[in-house]
Amino acid sequence: MEDDQTSRAARAARPVDTYGRPMRDLRISVMDRCNFRCPYCMPDATYHEGFRFLGPKERLNFDEIERVARMAAELGVTKIRLTGGEPLLRPGLPDLVRRLSALPGIEDVALTTNGVLLPRFAPALRQAGLLRVTVSLDSLDPVIFARMSGGRGSLPAVLEGIDAACAAGFEGGVKINTVVQRGVNDMDVPDILAHFRHTGVTVRLIEYMDVGNRNGWDRADVVPSGELRARIAALWPLEALPPRYHGEVARRYRYVDGAGEIGFVSSVSAPFCGACARARLSSDGKLYTCLFATTGTDLRTLLRGRASDAEADRQLRAALSRIWRHRTDRYSEERTRQPAFLVSGEKASRQEKIEMHYIGG
Ligand code: SAM
Ligand code: SF4
Ligand code: SF4
Repeated sequence: MEDDQTSRAARAARPVDTYGRPMRDLRISVMDRCNFRCPYCMPDATYHEGFRFLGPKERLNFDEIERVARMAAELGVTKIRLTGGEPLLRPGLPDLVRRLSALPGIEDVALTTNGVLLPRFAPALRQAGLLRVTVSLDSLDPVIFARMSGGRGSLPAVLEGIDAACAAGFEGGVKINTVVQRGVNDMDVPDILAHFRHTGVTVRLIEYMDVGNRNGWDRADVVPSGELRARIAALWPLEALPPRYHGEVARRYRYVDGAGEIGFVSSVSAPFCGACARARLSSDGKLYTCLFATTGTDLRTLLRGRASDAEADRQLRAALSRIWRHRTDRYSEERTRQPAFLVSGEKASRQEKIEMHYIGG
């Protein structure tokens, strides 16, 4: 009874951050390891045999993840995305999907994956309640694909994974994420689009971001969405679509000839911090309020403390609420405003940032 009252009170007091943004999305990294070594995310030079990844006990277990998600849902989160590293390397992932999908207030559980393990898991994930799948695919040219997955990925396996996801019939559909780098795969974008036109699969073209400190990001490698869109429109005329909801990250366009939709994620050229409602949980239980954050807040100690269930819930709810209310992040907007940022040749900021494979995209 008392618990019900506490939950109701929490729902009534959903936190907003210092810019009035609510907490709506929770991205959960379930695994810091990956079976690929995409140079823009996990360059081989750093992530070699000797790199120390988290051990199984350091990662939050499913009970702990579920507890954080339940409290986040009470505070306003409606969408969860599972990511990594490679989330399908986490044993039993469909079980976690089932538990998260059943939480009161959670309307949407989605997954971002490199796709190679989808043939094995897509049906079970669908059955467990996963609504949407995003598969990352940077090129259809085997040589470029190999380069962009650090020599570990297999293009036929990813395409098989995409087919498996389509066959599983995810209610919210299947999307493709393509990170575009100038001179690396920007010339391949038309091939990718041609492949998925008329299939119902939406391709989202993502500007290469200065996440982390290890990928050697350079402003010159970014192809601004405006330029890419003009190139695509010269092949297939495009028409802008209105956002489906406030804060939608991808700008949506439809092919005028009716072949489907594409999206542009312009984090560098047109940042969208103003509506950013995303919180991020690392696999070892730290909460981050921005993809470019320097530090996170440890929730694992609290989760593994000696408090009773009700008391642990109360402490967790209070911690999440406090972290969110103090949130001041708008890294991309601030960075884009710096005059030097617009100059080609600008390097990634030296500020110490978390890495993408650790926190998830
Ligand atoms: N391993 C899974 C995958 O690749 O889909 C999930 C994790 S991955 C970190 C999530 C997304 O982040 C992927 O779509 C990936 O392409 C994207 N990503 C990684 N590093 C990036 C960067 N520097 N800039 C833009 N997107 C990036
Ligand atoms: Fe792995 Fe995804 Fe990072 Fe590529 S982008 S190295 S698949 S975590
Ligand atoms: Fe959100 Fe940070 Fe990205 Fe801005 S830079 S959109 S605050 S994650």
